[in-house]
Amino acid sequence: MSVSTESLAARLREVLGAEYVRTDEASREQYGADALRRGRAADIVVLPAGTGEVAAVARICTETRTPLVPRGAGTGYSGGAVPLRGGVVLSLERLDRILEIDEANLVAVVQPGVITGDLQDAVEARGLFYPPDPASLRRSSIGGNVAECAGGPRAFKYGVTRQYVLGLEAVLMNGDVIRTGGRVVKNVVGYDLTQLLVGSEGTLAIITEITLRLVPRPPAAATLRATFTSIDVAVDAVSRLVRARVVPATLELIDRRTLDAVAAALGERLAPEGTGAVLILDVDGLPEQVEAEARRVEQACREAGATEILRADTPEERGALWRVRREISHALMVVADLKINNDVVVPKGRVPELYALVARLEAEFGLPIPSFGHAGDGNIHVNIMASSSDPEAVRRARAAEAELFRGVVALGGAISGEHGIGFTKAPYIGLGVDPPTLALMRRVKDAFDPLGLLNPGKIFPDVAV
Ligand SMILES: Cc1cc2nc3c(=O)[nH]c(=O)nc-3n(C[C@H](O)[C@H](O)[C@H](O)COP(=O)(O)OP(=O)(O)OC[C@H]3O[C@@H](n4cnc5c(N)ncnc54)[C@H](O)[C@@H]3O)c2cc1C
Repeated sequence: MSVSTESLAARLREVLGAEYVRTDEASREQYGADALRRGRAADIVVLPAGTGEVAAVARICTETRTPLVPRGAGTGYSGGAVPLRGGVVLSLERLDRILEIDEANLVAVVQPGVITGDLQDAVEARGLFYPPDPASLRRSSIGGNVAECAGGPRAFKYGVTRQYVLGLEAVLMNGDVIRTGGRVVKNVVGYDLTQLLVGSEGTLAIITEITLRLVPRPPAAATLRATFTSIDVAVDAVSRLVRARVVPATLELIDRRTLDAVAAALGERLAPEGTGAVLILDVDGLPEQVEAEARRVEQACREAGATEILRADTPEERGALWRVRREISHALMVVADLKINNDVVVPKGRVPELYALVARLEAEFGLPIPSFGHAGDGNIHVNIMASSSDPEAVRRARAAEAELFRGVVALGGAISGEHGIGFTKAPYIGLGVDPPTLALMRRVKDAFDPLGLLNPGKIFPDVAV
């Protein structure tokens, strides 16, 4: 930063107005951390109202060589919105309008600060559907979802955020405004910069408008919950489903240790005693399709050896079957206060090997590692639990995490399927990305942001500022 914080704040106030440039300690702390809870106070927090103001902030930061960190709703789990090198945090929360729901073209145009769940409600009221469903959807912003390429339980059938982004407006660090893609599903003009920006974790450009593809809302849905004696048997049921060509809308897998944590936290068991794994499946579509698929799901689970299969059709009953999944986050914090939440992904046929790896890590490092997630796409949340007041346990937890990453890559998987690299996983990016590919990624970063001022310290462990 080549100017004092006071003079920079004064320049920013001229553009945004005093109310939207904050330097008080509470704001700097609040906007310096995300859900990872390993933050660093920002020097200045700005809340622009539109693309023009975002561009003006970027230009001022470039002129003054100040790091700039875009921020959505701050629900990220990899520290992506943390201002590691200080500087300005730019919150997109005031760009919060759904600009258009274009029913004829099955498209929505939104500002990045729209809360994902609000967009879903708005399109569903018109018989349309925006499927990506991160568990944080009632809090996270669509801009943050695009920047992280968020996924959720429905990814198996419907895909992740990437599959729904048709076009973007974004601001570069020099203040230029770019437009990529558009309202059409087919577009092969030049490089696909839209998809390059999806998942770029706020390191290439600041997204200021998003054009999203919508699909018709499925008219019917049902939920099934099947219990099994072990993970291996549950995964066998998943393989049978795939062979039977059934594509459930969601396919969630919960292991015994996670079930035990939920039982301990609630004081009641939500699955029968002795259950080693639970699958929760949604099927959706036309009513006759739901009926046929539900029957095939039941058959595949029964053939694999399910010990219990429950089915629900009303929203209330379906909610009750999902309850065990919803309670997990809260329950794990009762196990221990430090949860190193890894969202690793392996080819789905190798999920049993991932669980074998987790069992080995539990034994080797002496820590509980409850694991659950999206069995349909091999994306399992592996939670390494430790007490934060026990430095030795924290050290073992970090060592177990490094070993987990190495094991996942050896299984042909990736160290992050949803939450991104941020700064927490930056030291490990080289495990799964070879040196020439990583070097090309750095050149892409340099092309967008030659001074390395936009969200420094993320993805690449050593971006110089
Ligand atoms: C309880 C809980 C459950 C979760 N469940 C899921 C889940 O199921 N699936 C999943 O994928 N994630 C999940 N997450 C993680 C998180 O919600 C997602 O990564 C989400 O996409 C982050 O959105 P946000 O608006 O909070 O972004 P932030 O945390 O504010 O930012 C995330 C990253 O995006 C960048 N960014 C934000 N907005 C913009 C923009 N407009 N332009 C450029 N860059 C931008 C930031 O710089 C940062 O790098 C969960 C988090 C919590 C707390």
